Amino acid sequence: MKKYLKIISLGSILLLFFATSFMACEKNDESNPPGNNNNQFEGNIIIVGAGASGLAAAKKLEENGISYQILEATDKFGGRIQKNEDFADFPIDLGAEWIHEDKSILNYLINQSGSEPNVETILYQPMDVYAEVGGSIWQIPTQDMEEYYADYIKEYKFKSTTWNDFIYENFAQSAEQNIVYNSKVTTIDYTGNKVVLKTENGTEYQADKVIITVSLGVLKSNAISFNPSLPEDKITAINDVEFLPGFKLFMKFSDQFYPDVISCETSSGEKTYYDVAYGKESEDNVFGLLSTGTSAEEYYALGSSDAIVASVLEELDTYYNGLASQNYLNAYVFKDWSQQEYAQGTWTSDTEVSSNSLNTSLNDKVYFAGETYNKHGETPTDNFYIIRGSVQSAILSGYEVVENIME
Ligand SMILES: Cc1cc2nc3c(=O)[nH]c(=O)nc-3n(C[C@H](O)[C@H](O)[C@H](O)COP(=O)(O)OP(=O)(O)OC[C@H]3O[C@@H](n4cnc5c(N)ncnc54)[C@H](O)[C@@H]3O)c2cc1C
Repeated sequence: MKKYLKIISLGSILLLFFATSFMACEKNDESNPPGNNNNQFEGNIIIVGAGASGLAAAKKLEENGISYQILEATDKFGGRIQKNEDFADFPIDLGAEWIHEDKSILNYLINQSGSEPNVETILYQPMDVYAEVGGSIWQIPTQDMEEYYADYIKEYKFKSTTWNDFIYENFAQSAEQNIVYNSKVTTIDYTGNKVVLKTENGTEYQADKVIITVSLGVLKSNAISFNPSLPEDKITAINDVEFLPGFKLFMKFSDQFYPDVISCETSSGEKTYYDVAYGKESEDNVFGLLSTGTSAEEYYALGSSDAIVASVLEELDTYYNGLASQNYLNAYVFKDWSQQEYAQGTWTSDTEVSSNSLNTSLNDKVYFAGETYNKHGETPTDNFYIIRGSVQSAILSGYEVVENIME
């Protein structure tokens, strides 16, 4: 069965008005629910990276009694799923923030039945939405927004928790004793029977199989060297997938002079201002900027986060007659994912490239998960489909790679 859907995300509100591309999605009724067990594998596994995909792989290994360790370069789990609890009276998602499509996906991801997750969520359907074109903003008619939400798949956010909390409760908590933090993997040698990994601090590890879950940015940067080197088709596949630079900026104001969303014109990636406290129980006024691709590069050219904030205030002042500077409380959080050594960018929104070379294993010894997942557009249930570069695709890829190993 073919189904034609359009991606809905905060940034894609802009696409509604400036783009017309639709994508075909294959329905896959036969797909296993994420919790099925079928272990044929004996041996030990090392997972590189304790983000969503690595932790999901760990959960699956644990369910099947397979011994594993996770080598994580930083001192935290979560990868691009991080939170800030100090800035406002609600926790802020510094990386992944939206629950793409139906909230029932949260249950699907942890193999729970029912469509109502046991965590409170917000239906994300902002109505006070502006579009910026050529330096001016105009309000998108409410009726257009209503029609938009009626026609397309829904999106949600967590109400008083974060993606990081979800990942902790359902994945990291049980895996934490197997995570070796501050362990940046620098070389992976898969010439012998065992795969040998070396970390920057000189420790050597051996495993029967290795699962690599680092971002495409890290793979592109050659931060990990392979012996033998990666095959040409793998290198081409990695280089071909777009992985944009970008950041999130959160600013605090004394008054809410701004709308729910201002979606700005940009030639690549997205530039979206949004009310971060939308739907939350909050007395704080936090306006956010998510900037990726071209717009992010333009901001980086200003040289510092202070200069970026000054430029953003100046821009908002032109739309709101000086109200941004007048209400600014001199407080911001700048989370630059491009400068993050272990992310090197944001996510891949490249839905076209789905080369099999991206996620094929190296000699059935070294496997890939995370952004190498090639199932963009598939629909495990009627309520959602898989979006490449999302938390859901990361988690599902972690499960799937373990299923492949166990076969
Ligand atoms: C700003 C931003 C906004 C986003 N918004 C959303 C959203 O709203 N909704 C959504 O669904 N998704 C969103 N995403 C995408 C989502 O966060 C990612 O797709 C997902 O978290 C990727 O998980 P992962 O485990 O595949 O990779 P990662 O989270 O990158 O995990 C990889 C892990 O590997 C570690 N690592 C890297 N190099 C090494 C090494 N050499 N040795 C050992 N460890 C290493 C890293 O430290 C990291 O912990 C967003 C991402 C960003 C950056």
